[in-house]
Amino acid sequence: MKAGRFVVDTHVHAQRHAVGSQLSKMSPRSDGSRYNDLAQAMRLTQAYDNSPRLLYDMDCYRVDMCVLLPAFGMTNEINMQLVENHPDKFVACCTAMKTSQKAMRGEEPWTIEAALKEIDELLATGKFVGIGEGTPGDSSSRKTISMETRLDQMRPFFDLARKYKVVARVHTGIVMGYPLTHHYWPETLHPLWITDLAVEYPDVPILLDHGGMQGWWSERMVEEAFTVAAANDNVYLETGYYWTELYWKALRDPNIGPEKLVFGTDWGASIPFHTQYGQTPQAYPVQIRSQGLPQHQVDPWGWALRQVTALDIGYDDINLILGGNAARLFKLKVPHSRMFRPVSPRLVPQWDNPKNATNGPRTSE
Ligand SMILES: [Zn+2]
Repeated sequence: MKAGRFVVDTHVHAQRHAVGSQLSKMSPRSDGSRYNDLAQAMRLTQAYDNSPRLLYDMDCYRVDMCVLLPAFGMTNEINMQLVENHPDKFVACCTAMKTSQKAMRGEEPWTIEAALKEIDELLATGKFVGIGEGTPGDSSSRKTISMETRLDQMRPFFDLARKYKVVARVHTGIVMGYPLTHHYWPETLHPLWITDLAVEYPDVPILLDHGGMQGWWSERMVEEAFTVAAANDNVYLETGYYWTELYWKALRDPNIGPEKLVFGTDWGASIPFHTQYGQTPQAYPVQIRSQGLPQHQVDPWGWALRQVTALDIGYDDINLILGGNAARLFKLKVPHSRMFRPVSPRLVPQWDNPKNATNGPRTSE
């Protein structure tokens, strides 16, 4: 049986890297077994179009649409081309990939202005539906930055999401192989930081990439993500790497529920699954540092879709999680009207009338 009426994965990487030559140039030379080396090499390597494997999996698991995201050395241009070639299957978010790559190669330092200009030009084409993966930051930096500095870096990108009426994405959660730090994306370790932006931008839908669970077993960052989502109508949780019990927690909360959960895995990322027989969760995504990098295309959908369909709840709720909420946020074309049950008017993006947004104005205003 198909998992739902209209299945959308909102977190997909349709590009892949051949990092062998970049790894061999590293000093000391990398044997390719370390995730840290992979993260560095991917940022410096041009990615290639991996859509044949993605389309195979979409057919296999009957996933109707994917929201394509760039990350590391991926390009907005390849994603845009894929959207043009398959308008019924793909939409894409964009971020400042060129600015980031120039900084990584030491060609030009990363600046907010350069990143804003790049994204502004991409969004002006009307071909992108959001900013992400995550909110831009300086991936070449090795300087610890504070909450205040980071939120000031993020605000101009939220202004841009407001200007173009698109979704702003924020990265939350860690996966253990890549050493996520307070240099870049520090909010990924502190989802609670987002609460200020959620209140300041009530008319901008904010999607927390991974909903605090990029991988691993700890629920600490999921709890922080829940806190922000429960207290702000404009904050949504991406859930593709939640196991069934995490869905139950979100569903039991009357301030979260099925209307704020958005299915999205990390299809295309190098995040394998670990099985711990007889424990809960019995399997979960995590990078195991001692085992090195997976060489194959990891299969996230078999596991992730089963976690959702194990929920013994009404299918109109499952359909919201698997596609209806994504269709609303990313303005997706769906095959028919009235496919999804209506949601609270508080959860309809207030693009055209920020004053009606239910978080209200900033207290300082
Ligand atoms: Zn990702």
